[in-house]
Amino acid sequence: MIDPSQTHQEIQLWLQGIYETLSISPDTQRRLSQPKLTIHTHIPLRRDDGSLQFFSAWRVQYDDTRGPTKGGIRFHPSVCSSGVSNLSFWMTIKCAVMNLPFGGAKGGICVDPKTLSRLELERLSRGYIRSICDIIGPERDIPAPDLNTNPLIMGWMADEYAQIQRRQAPAVITGKPLGLGGSHGRTSATGYGALQVLNQWCQRHAKKPQQTTVAVQGFGNAGYYFARRAHEMGYGVVAISDSHNAIYSASGIDPQTVWDQKQQKRKLGESIYCTTPVCETEAVEVLSKEQLLELPVDIMVLAAMENAITTDNACRVKAPLILEIANGPVTTKAEEILLEHGTTILPDVLVNAGGVTVSHLEWVQNRIGEYWDEIAVEKRLLQRMEREARNCFELAEAQKCTLRQAAYMQGIKRIAQAMDQRGTQD
Ligand code: GLU
Repeated sequence: MIDPSQTHQEIQLWLQGIYETLSISPDTQRRLSQPKLTIHTHIPLRRDDGSLQFFSAWRVQYDDTRGPTKGGIRFHPSVCSSGVSNLSFWMTIKCAVMNLPFGGAKGGICVDPKTLSRLELERLSRGYIRSICDIIGPERDIPAPDLNTNPLIMGWMADEYAQIQRRQAPAVITGKPLGLGGSHGRTSATGYGALQVLNQWCQRHAKKPQQTTVAVQGFGNAGYYFARRAHEMGYGVVAISDSHNAIYSASGIDPQTVWDQKQQKRKLGESIYCTTPVCETEAVEVLSKEQLLELPVDIMVLAAMENAITTDNACRVKAPLILEIANGPVTTKAEEILLEHGTTILPDVLVNAGGVTVSHLEWVQNRIGEYWDEIAVEKRLLQRMEREARNCFELAEAQKCTLRQAAYMQGIKRIAQAMDQRGTQD
């Protein structure tokens, strides 16, 4: 287990290089070294059996220089103060990389949602909003889904906020169900956005999807939509893992079949996958989820959680290209090892920005009271992903730096400019 406060320190150290290149003032560096506001609450939950239990929860608003803060809410037993803070920092960078008019935030509850009934989950979600309602709002801080949260939960949260405020305010939360002012294309946005970045990279390097093999670590929403469309476009998806196991087939796996089976509450790698035709011809091999990371594929897609690749396994990673769909899946130290081996990393703050990009489109639709169809939303998503990916690629080539350095330069330059334009703020 990596301590998230260690991650924070490593990032701060790594940022020094970026600050130097961009001649960022010491004031701006200090502003970016810690969150602006952290709320830690204990949410009371009346369990179905009548007992009372408390859950630790946080909302961290890292920086709001470029606009209201924006970022998801995760429900997971690993949620802690410094972890949420790191995620809120990445949101700040991500929104700036994409040139969205948002700062960055993140929230979370330390809970395993699988241990709650549906009614308990609803009560806890509403309790979370009651705890943080004073610091959120369409022009202040706008939550959204993240790990283990979804449109259903966003709907409860938006409704709770509307009840407290005694007025409709759909733009306070994004990722809502369509019927409550959600946007078309929000659920698939992270996966499709990531694929758009990969497509751009492949085009630039004259690589054809048909000539590549791909392993996907993590098969939640983002991993699924990515893998499904990648498969449709001709990428050879040969391995997929979930939080239990991995499956591998040299002749290719159909992500849709795997997804359908997972919906029936089956775990990857249980015998069902070996007997049903998830691949076109051969039998499917079951691997551990750790083994998947070491497969000799062309593209390793990290779509699970932070710290998938650390100094412990970095030297065993064979894929020459890593696509980071999760937030922070490669540690700073692991990246050094990968770079020594010549690995290219397409970084999280660019690759997974499709989610927040469509969140922005949802927020805009809520505010203008007009709704766009799926084609219009996807077109805007893909255009923005293409534009900002191209900017990063060109910057990396011009500066002869890594794509992560280029993405951070692009984001931090915009944040620093806005900080300067705001004045001294003392
Ligand atoms: N949780 C997502 C992320 O990490 C989306 C955040 C949002 O839509 O605000 O980027």
